[in-house]
Amino acid sequence: MEPNSARQCRYTKSDGNGCQANVQAGSEFCFFHDPALVEERATARSEGGRERTRKVLLAPNTPIRELKTVTEVVQLLGETINQVRRGGIDLRVANCVGYLSGILLAALEKGQMEERLAALEAIIKSPVPAAPAEENYSFVFDGTTSEASHEHSETAGENPGGAPS
Ligand SMILES: [Zn+2]
Repeated sequence: MEPNSARQCRYTKSDGNGCQANVQAGSEFCFFHDPALVEERATARSEGGRERTRKVLLAPNTPIRELKTVTEVVQLLGETINQVRRGGIDLRVANCVGYLSGILLAALEKGQMEERLAALEAIIKSPVPAAPAEENYSFVFDGTTSEASHEHSETAGENPGGAPS
């Protein structure tokens, strides 16, 4: 019987040939083909994946960000980019932040354009002397209310008074 150190891995490759690697101490397989180790590595990988995902999510009590201006969205994007560079955020979350920020920026820019348009339309539609004229009317009423009402009551008094009689 061959000594342990010289034994070859029992694993049979897809081409039918046996693995040429030497077995590990206490095993019938090499480092790469030991079923126990393969399983252990897979578990470690998936746990590592879960751990990465868990670590990089923000805490549930993280304050909500106001994202009502282009500046605030740009700040969030800058922060997210730095989190990605430090490995501090799940790439899926970062990708989602990037995608949604693009939509948000487009919407904010559209909103700004609409506000500007509305302001321009208001200027174009409003009659130019409207504002000063209103002030004049109120001044006229304040200053000459008695005179004006007298004139009106005199003319109004004559006509309706004359017609029935
Ligand atoms: Zn092997």
